Amino acid sequence: MKLAGTRILVTGGGSGIGRHLVERLLAEGAEPGVFEIDAARCAELAAATGGRVRTWPCDVSDAAAVDAAVAAMLGDGFEPDVLVNNAGVIHSEPLVNLLSRGERAHSRESWRRVLGADLDSVFFVTSRVVDHMLARRRKGVVVSISSISAAGNPGQSAYAAAKAGVNALTRTWAAELGAMGLRFVAVAPGFIDTPSTRAALSEASLTRLQQQIPLRRLGDVEAVYLAVRHAIENDYLTGTVLEVDGGLVF
Ligand code: NAP
Repeated sequence: MKLAGTRILVTGGGSGIGRHLVERLLAEGAEPGVFEIDAARCAELAAATGGRVRTWPCDVSDAAAVDAAVAAMLGDGFEPDVLVNNAGVIHSEPLVNLLSRGERAHSRESWRRVLGADLDSVFFVTSRVVDHMLARRRKGVVVSISSISAAGNPGQSAYAAAKAGVNALTRTWAAELGAMGLRFVAVAPGFIDTPSTRAALSEASLTRLQQQIPLRRLGDVEAVYLAVRHAIENDYLTGTVLEVDGGLVF
């Protein structure tokens, strides 16, 4: 599918990787729209792009909020041909924290929050958007941002489980809906240089990490964009996970 003139809904497009995707897609002539939890950031994004990026405030982990935002988006005449499931939270917590003096077991609240933001969100938004794509009888592409943590990463039970779920949904939907002209691809970054990554890791951990990455550096957001663009443009790609990790394997 070509980018120019294509309507592309990006979740979590207000900052980090999502923001870069939106800006690059816009520069390539696509028409991005954004679901973003932070209403002020939605307004800022719309203003910064002179209204060329349309935004709908939405907590994508909330099924009712997704239904309302999809209805508002369609009501505004924005019918996406491509969905990029990017919104998510990165969370690290051991199954049992042996150093804790209080509750040692992984918090159930954080388990639910991470599964909600990283996996429920993909199911809620994709089911509604794909329903509309099928009704329009047009080709469509769903790109979901996963993570190499999906392979299993110590200290990231909830995050790894959620992203493994995203990969499983990608393969499932590719098999279920390929005959209807819909493609599903996951893009699994390793460590990308974003404010959220730098907030999550100390300088010492960052230095250690970079020594473990075969390419000896964090990835940049453009590397993720190039994979997303490839997923959209390559019409024979479906049911697969594109890893963008500088060679780092868990
Ligand atoms: P980020 O900077 O925190 O950006 C995530 C965006 O999603 C933010 O704008 C955030 O809004 C929004 N968001 C979070 N929860 C949401 C919800 N429930 N509903 C709607 N919007 C929501 O994170 P990032 O590093 O760009 O990560 C983007 C994606 O890439 C995530 O799926 C992440 O798991 C994945 N990823 C990132 C890396 C990395 O190294 N950065 C590596 C592998 C995978 P607020 O800021 O207002 O919460």
